[in-house]
Amino acid sequence: MTPEPSEKNVERMWNFAKKYADKSGTSFSPIEGVTEAVIKGLAVHQDTLGRPLCPCRFYQDKQAEIQSRTWICACEDMKNFKYCHCLLFTNEEGMPITEYLPEDHEGREAWGLIPDPTPDKGREGSRKPGV
Ligand code: SF4
Repeated sequence: MTPEPSEKNVERMWNFAKKYADKSGTSFSPIEGVTEAVIKGLAVHQDTLGRPLCPCRFYQDKQAEIQSRTWICACEDMKNFKYCHCLLFTNEEGMPITEYLPEDHEGREAWGLIPDPTPDKGREGSRKPGV
């Protein structure tokens, strides 16, 4: 059973998620419980690991993942491609943005091409096409 996170880190993760959604031009899912579940998972990792490691993946070695930083929220996929596989940061319909993913990425294969409704926002990473 997933442990209950501290209120402090639930609040911290909500604050982060609201700011990051605003900055990246993304929305929270309209489906009840989706956003809350991801926030809770991030807060549990903040409590237990000291970092908001993505809660939607399996890790052989969580400490090694923290060192690599790839899956610390906001993860590399979100920074580079504006893709959140946890559905924390979505379009207004609650769908993940897949427009910038490489065609052989699991997200593109799973969801097809879902365009970015706010292309002028987000994608702080360095792997933008043509950059
Ligand atoms: S997929 Fe990335 S952006 Fe989405 S919750 Fe996980 S770490 Fe955060």
